[in-house]
Amino acid sequence: MSEFDMLVQRIKTCTECALSQGRTQAVPGEGSPTADIMFIGEGPGYYEDRDGRPFIGRAGNVLTGLLNGIGLRREDVYITNMVKCRPPNNRDPMPEELSACSGFMDAQIEMIKPKVIVTLGRFSFGKFFPGESITRARGKPRRWRGLTVYPMYHPAAVLHNPNLRSALEGDFRRLPELIEEAAHSSPAGPGPEPADVPLVKEPAKARQLNMF
Ligand code: SF4
Repeated sequence: MSEFDMLVQRIKTCTECALSQGRTQAVPGEGSPTADIMFIGEGPGYYEDRDGRPFIGRAGNVLTGLLNGIGLRREDVYITNMVKCRPPNNRDPMPEELSACSGFMDAQIEMIKPKVIVTLGRFSFGKFFPGESITRARGKPRRWRGLTVYPMYHPAAVLHNPNLRSALEGDFRRLPELIEEAAHSSPAGPGPEPADVPLVKEPAKARQLNMF
């Protein structure tokens, strides 16, 4: 069994926080363990808990559609959540649950070694840049320990507020360019790089890919 498969097994049997008591099953993540792009959401919902797969409900359909729109399939990327077990009634994850699960997230990043991490919503953004506003930060790629972190709204936000859809679609259109740029930048590593360095250009100057 590979190191990555062992990590998945540890997640599936984890009882480190109270979310383990209400889950049907843990949802470790899905996709390529060598993906260049990693998407990190908040936590599993009803369908994810039932089937053991991330982002398969209505918000998942939005994410899959956006991926397909830039020529990617779900299996080309890695999709996971900050907490691997469903919070009751889809409530927000508690700080102690996020803390208990953070080691799994760190291990997944360490093993997958993505070039770009897309944070979906405020909880995953808060892991990398705590205390900042997702509304102000979204769409602006940043450096974090040698990686590009690209904050976006959570796809569920689009379902609640359709006015956010164009922002999310615009952020997705920049992804191919970011991946290309990240591939030519220095590799990820634990070096002393500043955690908060804005990257590249403003959206208006970015190459537009007419895919929506
Ligand atoms: Fe373990 Fe994370 Fe599930 Fe809590 S949410 S039981 S820490 S896998």
